[in-house]
Amino acid sequence: MTLVLLGAGNSSRFGLNVKKQWLWCGNEPLWLYVTNRFTHSFSFHDVVITAHPKEIPFYKKYCHYTVVEGADTRQRSLLNALEMVQTPYVLVSDIARPCIQKEVVQKMIENRSHAACIVPYIQPADTVVYKNETIDRNEVKLIQTPQLSKTDILRKALTQGKEFTDESSAIASLEEKVLYIPGDRKQHKLTYTEDLKLLPCLQKPSNAKRIGNGFDVHAFCANRKLFLCGIEIPYDKGLAGHSDADVAIHALIDALLGAAGFGDIGELFPDSVDTYKDIDSKKLLFEAVQLLHACGFVIENVDLTIIAQNPKIGPYKAKMQQSLHDLLHIPQHAINLKATTTEHLGFVGRNEGIAAMATATLHYFDWSAI
Ligand code: MG
Repeated sequence: MTLVLLGAGNSSRFGLNVKKQWLWCGNEPLWLYVTNRFTHSFSFHDVVITAHPKEIPFYKKYCHYTVVEGADTRQRSLLNALEMVQTPYVLVSDIARPCIQKEVVQKMIENRSHAACIVPYIQPADTVVYKNETIDRNEVKLIQTPQLSKTDILRKALTQGKEFTDESSAIASLEEKVLYIPGDRKQHKLTYTEDLKLLPCLQKPSNAKRIGNGFDVHAFCANRKLFLCGIEIPYDKGLAGHSDADVAIHALIDALLGAAGFGDIGELFPDSVDTYKDIDSKKLLFEAVQLLHACGFVIENVDLTIIAQNPKIGPYKAKMQQSLHDLLHIPQHAINLKATTTEHLGFVGRNEGIAAMATATLHYFDWSAI
């Protein structure tokens, strides 16, 4: 049996800057928390997770499972995931349904040979009106996930050229047997911010701090403007590089990515990509900050040291701090800028280039306070 977890959505109905998949529970993002909840209780041949293409490298740094690109619909994401599935049975669930009940899954597994799809459901507690007519609510099923399907039948069901909202309706359309078993109200789906209160299994984020460092060097070259922390510094040379070579912002981005466990600037913005040629590094920092916010991180403070023999940095520090303040959206006192020379030693001392080092601290966005 393979576990497929769907979570490539953009959380458009959720109402927070943070994506649902990246709400932190204890010391894990939701997607990893849900994955572990399954794998700690059941044994799977493989685990396949769908993710937003931009976030796949981050998922891979956090786990050793198979991570595939999600698509614009749940069904297409599931089809991408099914390409990786080699087992006769597949258990499909949504990361947005985190409080999976072990007993429900156990019952599905026990019944797996009795139908092409085993699906948990609950019944509505309220009166149900359909097209202005009150109908017998005992005949109404509210379908949940996970759902356990025979892989080959599910593949066939999903490639008929029709859109389905879950596996059971796709399989039922082939007139294959679907077995409905009682689900559990605790398996509530997280769609809106208010749903967070209906998910008692979710632990609030830990108050751990995450620290990262960054270091960068660029050589001076003629006929280029010099940019540091996003502002132009009057000087007779600029720095060489694929982007605008803002060495200070590059070190800062590396510190931020390092704190998040997201690798480095070269992985996020490869210098092989033309889009980043001569790019204003403020745009790269803006994108990195947005990404961190979407992934549930809050920037606490940054500390940056620019190491240059020339030009003198001191007169521009206040302007640089303001520039970073506009990009990081954190209090001015949380942005510290330092400048030093190397007393004429080494490549910096010979005025061949500029180096920068940075430290950043992050904490997790506390959704429990909403
Ligand atoms: Mg650089």
